[in-house]
Amino acid sequence: MKTMTCHQLGGACDETFRAETFEELTELSKAHGMDMFQKQDPAHLEAMNKMMQLMQNPEEMNKWMDERRKDFEAQPDDV
Ligand SMILES: [Zn+2]
Repeated sequence: MKTMTCHQLGGACDETFRAETFEELTELSKAHGMDMFQKQDPAHLEAMNKMMQLMQNPEEMNKWMDERRKDFEAQPDDV
C-alpha cells in the first residue's frame, strides 16, 4: 500500500488516499473530488477547473498522469 495526498494528485487539501495500485488511488481521489464538488468546496472547484483545462489537451493530460504515476511509485510502501 502506498499513500498520497489530495494535494499530490492535483487536489486542494491534505486528505490522504491509500491504495495498492495507481488506478485504485485515482479512483479514491476521484470519489473524494466528487464529494468536494457536491459540497461546492471553492479550493477543490478551482483545482477541478485546472484539471478540466488539462483534459482539453490529451497529450498534456497523459504527461501529467505519467508524472503522478511516477510520484506514486516513488512513495515508500506502507508497512
Ligand atoms: Zn481534497
